[in-house]
Amino acid sequence: MSVQTPPTLLKLARQALLRDEALAMSSVEELPRELFPALFKEALDGRKTMLIKTMVAAWPFPCLPVGALMVTPDLETLKAVLDGVDMRLTREFHPRRQKLQILDLRNVNHAFWNTWAGEEECDYLTETVDEKQVVTILPRHALKDCLSVVVDFYIHYCLKDEEACLLQWAQQRKAYINFCCVKMKIWALPFYVIQGILEVFHPKHIQEFKLNIGWIEDTVSRFTPCFGQMTNLHTLSLAPTYNKTFKHGWTTSPREQKYVNKFISQFSNLKGLQHLSMKGLGFLRDHMKQLFGCLRKPLETLSITHYQISQSDLDSFSCSQRLFQLKHLDMRGIILLLLDIMPLKVLLENLADTLQSLDLKGCRMSNSQLTVLIPALSHCSKLTKVNFYNNNFSMPILKDFLRHTANLNKLNVEQYPAPLECYDDLGALSTELFVQLCAELMDTLLAVRQPKNISFASEVCVRCRERCVYALGPRLCLCWQ
Ligand SMILES: [Zn+2]
Repeated sequence: MSVQTPPTLLKLARQALLRDEALAMSSVEELPRELFPALFKEALDGRKTMLIKTMVAAWPFPCLPVGALMVTPDLETLKAVLDGVDMRLTREFHPRRQKLQILDLRNVNHAFWNTWAGEEECDYLTETVDEKQVVTILPRHALKDCLSVVVDFYIHYCLKDEEACLLQWAQQRKAYINFCCVKMKIWALPFYVIQGILEVFHPKHIQEFKLNIGWIEDTVSRFTPCFGQMTNLHTLSLAPTYNKTFKHGWTTSPREQKYVNKFISQFSNLKGLQHLSMKGLGFLRDHMKQLFGCLRKPLETLSITHYQISQSDLDSFSCSQRLFQLKHLDMRGIILLLLDIMPLKVLLENLADTLQSLDLKGCRMSNSQLTVLIPALSHCSKLTKVNFYNNNFSMPILKDFLRHTANLNKLNVEQYPAPLECYDDLGALSTELFVQLCAELMDTLLAVRQPKNISFASEVCVRCRERCVYALGPRLCLCWQ
């Protein structure tokens, strides 16, 4: 027979207050703080906006991580929270209450809601990983004197109602509230809107920044000053929307050159930058040496993809010390066929003890280029992931490469192109040869090492846009099924 546990006094008190919202609002100042976290959660669940507002105004802890509870954004709830902050700021500080220092609107797991159970002191600020990050990025005086509002922004194409509401609210209060955005990811937003956001959420607080916009000349020149202020950035990802960048040809006017130089020089302000991704930024062609020379710290991740770098760009790979501790190198879609690959070989030699993932998909390398890379690759024993799809390797060279991978026993995912012998002179795939030769390559590999997740793949089929893939067995493109 099961015995039902009776509700605790705290639970009974909460239930009574939720039933009588007017009573709850009138007595909120006098409520014991133990009641606040659970009652606030239930007020949010029930969207009791007046109670939410009153409770924010009387919040008895230094941090209110409300974003963790607002998994589905809701404009009315957000407005109630912001109204509560206003109410709090416009009245006398309640001597019984702790001062609210951080309103955390980020949708991140927060230990506060799980661990708080009426402990003596609210020491969760040091227990929560996310909160620790906030504390380290906020100036000390901000924590003491001024309320900080912390957000992450993921904005696609236009501001949602909640984002517009928060931004407008913040713009009117930026003089006396410290606004921090830790992760800012923006796709295809007009630059004047981005500028408006950065005027309120100061660039120095951003740790992770992703920007996909049309990189026209004007944007580069207007972005440069904000970019140089992102001094706490550790992850940067820049890409164009709709492949829109200036410098479509290889020549640059002196004015464009000036903008690009100024933009690149800002990298020297990013003291903690560790992960750098630049996709399709054609205007950076011929500037890699200059850019790598501005880096202040060794990079962990370098991703330069989908535009044509020059030989001098590739040359800088072999002499830029800041690249010599890379864990992840992604050069997807950069055509290497006509370049001297030797600098990449030198870089790989330097990465023997660090490199974990290498993506050379679509680089269109030739047999002779792979031959140059094989000795260096065979020593990269930390590699867990390689991708060589869409390169032009023939059967003997692929076999030779696989035989040299005995040391690469950490590889979890390995992707190789189907050998050139699978195609006829017009580039059409013979599925029979594909199956036969891929099986042969698999046997070659099995003789030196037991692979975990391996595949050989053809070019993308022009009719069905799928590949023929040989993994545990063949999976042909839709045309052959
Ligand atoms: Zn097909």
